[in-house]
Amino acid sequence: MAQKKTSRNNTELYSPVTDLKGVGPKKAEAFLRLGIEKISDVLELYPREYEDLRNIKRIAGLKDGEKAVVTARVLNASLGRGFGRKRTLHVLTEDDTGRMEVLFFNGTYLLPQFKTGLSFRFFGKVKCEYGRVSMFHPSYARSDGETQEGILPVYPLTRGLVQKDVRHLSAAALEMAGDIPETLPAAAISSANLCGIDYAYRNIHYPEGDDQFRAARYRLVYEELFYLDAALALSRSRGGKGRKGRSFDVSCVTEFTDSLPYKLTNAQSRALSEILSDMHSDKAMNRLVQGDVGSGKTAVACAAMFTALKNGSQSAFMAPTDILARQHFETLKKLFKGFDAHIELLTSSMSSAEKRKVLKGLADGSIDIAVGTHALISDNVEYKDLGLVITDEQHRFGVNQRQLLSAKGTNPDVLVMTATPIPRTLAVVLYADLDLSVIDELPPGRMPIETRRYDASGRNEAYKILESEVRSGRQAYVVAPFIEDSDALDAYSAESLYEETKSRFPDIECGLLHGRMTQQEKDSVMERFYAGELRILVSTVVIEVGIDVPNATVMLIENSERFGLAQMHQLRGRVGRGTHKSYCLIITDSDSETAVERAEIMCSTSDGFVIANKDLEIRGPGEFFGYRQHGLPQLRLADPVKHVAVAAQALKDVKKMLAEDPSLSHPENAYFALCLRNKYMQSDRLTL
Ligand code: ADP
Ligand code: MG
Repeated sequence: MAQKKTSRNNTELYSPVTDLKGVGPKKAEAFLRLGIEKISDVLELYPREYEDLRNIKRIAGLKDGEKAVVTARVLNASLGRGFGRKRTLHVLTEDDTGRMEVLFFNGTYLLPQFKTGLSFRFFGKVKCEYGRVSMFHPSYARSDGETQEGILPVYPLTRGLVQKDVRHLSAAALEMAGDIPETLPAAAISSANLCGIDYAYRNIHYPEGDDQFRAARYRLVYEELFYLDAALALSRSRGGKGRKGRSFDVSCVTEFTDSLPYKLTNAQSRALSEILSDMHSDKAMNRLVQGDVGSGKTAVACAAMFTALKNGSQSAFMAPTDILARQHFETLKKLFKGFDAHIELLTSSMSSAEKRKVLKGLADGSIDIAVGTHALISDNVEYKDLGLVITDEQHRFGVNQRQLLSAKGTNPDVLVMTATPIPRTLAVVLYADLDLSVIDELPPGRMPIETRRYDASGRNEAYKILESEVRSGRQAYVVAPFIEDSDALDAYSAESLYEETKSRFPDIECGLLHGRMTQQEKDSVMERFYAGELRILVSTVVIEVGIDVPNATVMLIENSERFGLAQMHQLRGRVGRGTHKSYCLIITDSDSETAVERAEIMCSTSDGFVIANKDLEIRGPGEFFGYRQHGLPQLRLADPVKHVAVAAQALKDVKKMLAEDPSLSHPENAYFALCLRNKYMQSDRLTL
């Protein structure tokens, strides 16, 4: 499509917000907190809701709980009890039908504005109680002699900004923007029957009416998904499906599986044979292994690395945390005993001398298997012949990190493992390039984990269970949401729980583990816990992923309201790994709806898929194991779950576009390609 010319020179639009009259350094700082630096940035700050001036309510007709716009006169304003600024401002107002009280906490400084007789427009949530109508902290504006009408945006705010400031900025930006050039290819616009970007921006900020608003929102949701799909597809085409790979001889694998101290489960065997058939084929492997916590993904990964080893290729096994990398290193050394394999650990906490030795071994090929953290993908790491790349707990890594690792080899096979069951709807968006293997069976002989929840009054009871397990030879975890106490947060810290636990059980060896300890301290604590020397480990969520101590049978979670469902499921996965019955004890004194709901879900199911779907429902996909962690730009309006149909349409259109123009070099896609690069250059984790 021919790119529309803007009707004005756009430098104004892309200048800093301070260029706008009335915006000084203080306000600029506040805008920055909303992610707005340039005037144009406000275009993508979408309103959180709207103040509909076409529908101004009369006080007598207000209903409890509704959000409404009301115009009313001030009868009087006064401050409630309290001191200084901490006093509540009560503004009594009326219209022709009744009276309404408007309250502002800490509202002393607002008092001078509400002079008797002045008219204001209030927008907020209505409370009707005992025949009295009130609004707490509404947004408000003088309404006498004012001619505002239509639908006004209500923006997210931050300290130092009021609605008026942001509205002023967005109105100015739209004015300066002139005719905003189209950011989607014409083919997509006609295929999905979309309104233009100029229309969309204007109507998402200041909708002319309901239909116009819906068209605008649809278009912007589509656009976000289209950009996301295109970015993923392009970054994949460099390392994704269909890439030519190596062909390994896989017949040797039984030598390894026969040497394991257990027989693989059916699900493990199935996943392994899918992996081996990829490794055998001359197409490169790109496979995701999804298996709930404890399903035995590590053994499967090891069998794959064994195969690479026997074919004379190096493998790299990347874990998200130092602790986990070290644990995998120990496991691998055990499983590969008896075979001639040179395995080394590489993490950033190692000394430079140690690192140098490993780097040399990787470069000259004397090391067969490298286990480590991000350090494995540092610029200075070179491999002689990297043939297999495995990332564990994939949800911890960005899309790009996986690519960086595979770029270290020539067409290596790639295996990613995750215990986070990704709901299909999201998997389509995030992992469309990967083949999927599911390990949906736990090794035999596992006792189910009994999950119970307690409030503060049941806390001692929970610790009794913990004590009796520890006294009969087992080990236990106690998890706190924070490292140290803070005045601001009313919750246990690992440090204070550690002290409490030690004095509760003076004769039992306790350890403390958290992210602010030095690597040496962490290592020594984990070693002592693995060895069974420490019986109780008090910790923060640093133990969330992967830790494998089969003798541990109690996971006690304090202040569970501070943890997400997926996180608690991972924590629970630390126990029930041996043959003893295990317990997950969830303590929360919060009666917030989500805290109770989460605790109940934990007690009612141990199925990771069910939990992931519930998590998605409660938190929404924006939060769900963080898009940010994937290095993807935030979706502001789009929700791949709610907008499945739009997502499918966008994906279809992206595929069509890339089939016709794989490198986006056709002139009709040129402006889109430019916008796409601009957008993704800001997130340095995704290279296009
Ligand atoms: P995850 O899938 O959570 O990474 P791991 O690979 O850590 O699980 O395995 C969990 C535990 O189960 C380990 O102690 C491992 O030795 C054991 N395990 C794995 N496979 C089997 C099996 N087929 N039979 C018995 N135990 C197994
Ligand atoms: Mg694991």
